[in-house]
Amino acid sequence: MQPIRIVGNGLAAHVLAQTLIQRGLEVEVFAADFPGAASKAAWGLLNPVHLKTRTLTYGALGFELALAFYSQCQERLDAHFMEPVVLRHYFRDESDNTRWIQAWQEGLHQHIHCGDTYVDVLRAASISIPHFLSASQQDLERRGFWRNAVGQEAELMNVPVSNWVIWAQGVWACSSSLFGWVPLRPSAGVQAEWNQSSSEFQPLVVHRGFFFGQDPANPSVHRLGSTYSWSQTPADHAQAEQELIQALPSYPEAQPPTALKFSLGYRPASGDRKPIVGHHPEFRNHLFFNGLGSKGLLLAPQLADLMADICVHSPREIPPEINIARFYKRFKSSP
Ligand SMILES: Cc1cc2nc3c(=O)[nH]c(=O)nc-3n(C[C@H](O)[C@H](O)[C@H](O)COP(=O)(O)OP(=O)(O)OC[C@H]3O[C@@H](n4cnc5c(N)ncnc54)[C@H](O)[C@@H]3O)c2cc1C
Repeated sequence: MQPIRIVGNGLAAHVLAQTLIQRGLEVEVFAADFPGAASKAAWGLLNPVHLKTRTLTYGALGFELALAFYSQCQERLDAHFMEPVVLRHYFRDESDNTRWIQAWQEGLHQHIHCGDTYVDVLRAASISIPHFLSASQQDLERRGFWRNAVGQEAELMNVPVSNWVIWAQGVWACSSSLFGWVPLRPSAGVQAEWNQSSSEFQPLVVHRGFFFGQDPANPSVHRLGSTYSWSQTPADHAQAEQELIQALPSYPEAQPPTALKFSLGYRPASGDRKPIVGHHPEFRNHLFFNGLGSKGLLLAPQLADLMADICVHSPREIPPEINIARFYKRFKSSP
């Protein structure tokens, strides 16, 4: 069997590559480093609970699978990039408090614990995505599966139809001639990072929507993030940095130096907030793996499992709500 070609260099591409390798398959990863990749700016929280809506998020049932996947990767890749964390959200006001208690009664009791002034998400993890990517890259290089090159459509369209090509390009799919018709809506996000002495791993804290905590691979690196915006103008980025600076005083534990390092990334989100996977309508050996939005860590392992099943022709349906086929009408009407 020919190697499965993967185009991309973010969470989607690396989780997919590692999943396929675990299944004993060979891959060839075409990886470029375009500025603005979501995976390089991500906070790195693996969390099954949606804090705004106080419900389980889409894909929450795959939480244990995701946790097991990253744990196995730590062992196989001999790297440390994940820490289990308790995620602590302080109530905004009385009504926030009441609604969380209601959510607890209505089914979240296995996932949360309500205190007097806060709610804890009991099972969550903090993952340093850049550390995972770098460990995965080293593994791919060692196996000879790594191509430090842009995956070119003109070249990859020529692979025989019996060979799979999986496009995991994040927001760069928007300018692709093969998949440019898929309605991705990039959402920009910024997070801040600084050094602060610390020996022990503390609970991750959320106030007013911003997360504050430590990098699991290096507990003295602290992070605050992240902002969220569908807009992409440079002015918004400066505004996003200001938002983070203004949020800092809400965290008495934070002692940032004056110079913060900001990272900007574009989440590959879809308008319906669901991932997008499946076959190109005409070139069926070309698969799309995208739309991970703000839940990449939770979704990528379960979707990579699905992609692996497709590649080995295991009979498994792609759920309609995430199947790229829901957008085929757009392909037909695209010029
Ligand atoms: C500020 C911020 C905070 C976030 N926090 C979290 C969080 O706490 N938890 C969570 O689960 N998710 C979080 N996310 C979302 C998460 O980062 C994304 O869901 C995920 O990283 C998307 O991965 P991706 O591989 O699809 O895209 P990207 O990370 O954007 O990767 C795409 C990659 O493909 C490469 N590429 C594109 N075209 C080609 C080509 N032709 N050839 C070769 N390479 C190519 C690009 O260079 C890029 O490296 C956050 C995102 C942001 C921006």
